[in-house]
Amino acid sequence: MTLLNATDLYRFYHVGDDETRALRGVSLELRPGELTVLLGASGSGKSTLLACLAGLDDPDGGWIALGGERLSRQPEARRARLRAAHLGVMLQSGNLIPHLSVLDNALLTGALLGRRDAARARELLNRVGLAQRLHAYPSQLSGGETARAALVAALAHGPRILLADEPTAEVDAETEDRVTELIGDFVHGQGRAALIATHSPRLAARADRVLHLSDGRWADA
Ligand code: ADP
Ligand code: ADP
Repeated sequence: MTLLNATDLYRFYHVGDDETRALRGVSLELRPGELTVLLGASGSGKSTLLACLAGLDDPDGGWIALGGERLSRQPEARRARLRAAHLGVMLQSGNLIPHLSVLDNALLTGALLGRRDAARARELLNRVGLAQRLHAYPSQLSGGETARAALVAALAHGPRILLADEPTAEVDAETEDRVTELIGDFVHGQGRAALIATHSPRLAARADRVLHLSDGRWADA
C-alpha cells in the first residue's frame, strides 16, 4: 500500500531568458509507518518538491497520486480538497493565518473538515512547548515558535501524511527532541507517513529512510 505516489516529476522555473530546472525526474513513494527525511543543499529542489507534493505547486511533467487519486494537473479546488483530505502541510512560506492566534490556527483545518478537536490541538501545542503561547499571533512569535506552531497547525486535524519543511528550525536541543518525538509518534500511529526536509541530525537519526536531493534529482540516481 502506498499513501502517496510521485512519478518522474519535472519542474522548470522561467525568469526572463533563464530557466532553472528545479526538479528533473524525481520519483517517490510514501508508505505507512515510514518517516522519510529529505536532505539536500540549499537550492537542490526540496521546497519545490514539497510544494508539488502538497498540491500548492503543479509539476510541469510527471504525476502525483494521493490515496489512489490524481493530484497533479488538476484544478486548484480539487487539489485543495485532496490536500485537506490527506495531508498536513508545514512549509517555510508559512501555513499560519496572521489574524488567528496560535490555538485558532491549530483548530482551523479541523473546523473546516467538521472535526475540530481542541483537546488534541492543545495537547500537541503543549508537547512542543507552546502552552504559554496559545493566544499569541504569528507576528509575535520567534522563528522557532513559528515553525512549531506551523507544525501543530499541520498535524492537529489528524492527517495521514505530514509534509514539513524544517520543523526544528531555530530551536534548542531539548525542543528539537520534543518535536522529533512528536513526529515519531505521529508516524507510528495507524497508516501514517511523513516526509520532512530537515538539517536536524536528531530528526534524521529517527528516520526510516533518508533521501538526498542534488540539483533536482536523487543524489544516487
Ligand atoms: P531548496 O528548497 O532545496 O533550497 P528550492 O526548491 O527552493 O530548493 O529551489 C530549487 C531551485 O529552483 C533553485 O535554483 C531556486 O533558485 C529555484 N526556484 C525556486 N523557486 C523559484 C521561483 N519561484 N522562481 C524561480 N526560480 C525558483
Ligand atoms: P491510531 O489510533 O491512528 O494508531 P492514535 O490516535 O492512537 O493513532 O495515536 C497514536 C500516537 O500518535 C499517539 O502517541 C498520539 O499521541 C500520536 N498522535 C495521534 N495523532 C497525532 C497527531 N495528529 N499528531 C501527532 N501525534 C499524533
